[in-house]
Amino acid sequence: MNYFNNHGVAALLRHAASVAAVFPLRAWTAQPGVILRHDVDLDVQAAYAFSRLVAECGIRSTFFFLVTAETYNVNAAPARRMLRAMADDGFEVALHFDPQVYPEADAALLARHARTEGDILADIIGGPVTSISLHNPSVHGSFMLLDGWNNAYDPAIFGPDRYLSDSRMRFRSDPLAFVAQGAERIVQLLLHPLHYSQSGGPYPLPMLNYLERQTRMVDTMFRVNSEYQDRVGDRLLGALTDAVPHWKL
Ligand SMILES: [Zn+2]
Repeated sequence: MNYFNNHGVAALLRHAASVAAVFPLRAWTAQPGVILRHDVDLDVQAAYAFSRLVAECGIRSTFFFLVTAETYNVNAAPARRMLRAMADDGFEVALHFDPQVYPEADAALLARHARTEGDILADIIGGPVTSISLHNPSVHGSFMLLDGWNNAYDPAIFGPDRYLSDSRMRFRSDPLAFVAQGAERIVQLLLHPLHYSQSGGPYPLPMLNYLERQTRMVDTMFRVNSEYQDRVGDRLLGALTDAVPHWKL
């Protein structure tokens, strides 16, 4: 089973919902179930599309967004509309926090930065932002917990026996068996939206899909420019796809 195509991941999510309660982090009190979480590292569009797929499985989950991403801007008008729509649809919009943005900050200052970033998301969705996950904590070796937040790295929901992730497009154990444990106790499943596509192809397909969307956006932006039209015409997207046909399986 390829869990990285839309059909495969939908089957996994429907199975999870049939054997356990599946809910966003903010809905966890102490009950058993599956906390379903998504860290948005690359692209809001992929996250929004993935939320539609999750919703079709009758599930609501948490999407953690960076406000310090190098590849997307949550405050761009289309992103604001998508985040608001997701929140209005019952998904939890939460903060994906990268402490490495503030290398000089101590714990108290990091906590203030996190609150400031959370307020940016709260302004976008018109509601509170109460959950936080850390970006690349295993890379910088810090699994700090922040007071006043629902922490995705709370030891109660983060450990080898209670947490499974699709990082590097690999699952350490069978996800079907993992979610079944949610019938008895709390477990956490992390799926990165960028990993999922119609075909479920491996790296670099997720990156190419992102580059294709971004190329279309840049092309649309400059279409009104006559010099660009004369020199480029329809060839910008072609230049991207011609360069990498063997990856576009
Ligand atoms: Zn991340």
